[in-house]
Amino acid sequence: MLDRLPGQCEVCRRWGPARLCADCTGRYAAPRPRCRRCALPLPAGVEVCGECLRSAPPFEHTVCVADYAFPWVQLIAAFKFRGRVELAAPLAHELARAARATPAPHWVLPVPLAPGRLAERGYNQAWEVARRAARRLGAEARPDVLRRPRETAHQADLPRAERMKNLRAAFVVDAARRAALQGRRVALVDDVFTTGATAREAAITLLAAGAGAVDVWVLARTP
Ligand SMILES: [Zn+2]
Ligand SMILES: [Zn+2]
Repeated sequence: MLDRLPGQCEVCRRWGPARLCADCTGRYAAPRPRCRRCALPLPAGVEVCGECLRSAPPFEHTVCVADYAFPWVQLIAAFKFRGRVELAAPLAHELARAARATPAPHWVLPVPLAPGRLAERGYNQAWEVARRAARRLGAEARPDVLRRPRETAHQADLPRAERMKNLRAAFVVDAARRAALQGRRVALVDDVFTTGATAREAAITLLAAGAGAVDVWVLARTP
């Protein structure tokens, strides 16, 4: 109900019905040409970036709302680290809009948090966005397919080569969900795509367990 009451836009502070007003989403989430595979910004007319051509990622499509810059850096930080869970709804609204460009998935899956981090934060930001975006798209979101049984070191603290090693075997597919996963397309939801290492490892795990295709939906992408 709170979502329907007039309030201020989180970005420009103007009063209106939306927490992210149309002027701000028009200005800060305008679609731009991106690599179909990894969402890197590209010149118009180029479909796939050089890096994805040299070494195709395990996911087929990546879509994002915007580059990881103002105001998304601030909004995602507030949502993720300062308990502003109510930002999940407007962020999911934008994500669902971007995700319409990818084929409809059988399941929408959040990148999971390890149990320790989930307990510490109280919620998984990827799940809060995934389930709302899925509902908007008429898809089924599931938090119990991909799991992250153990804590890994903070990705941001590690150099790139170390990040991949750190993530190896970080994810597992729940044994009870394997049969239903076979040959299915799934969408993997995360907040920010930086190096893509997390999405890559999660996608490899899902494909190895029998998924037919994996797409990645993120709120923001490091340009
Ligand atoms: Zn605004
Ligand atoms: Zn690419």
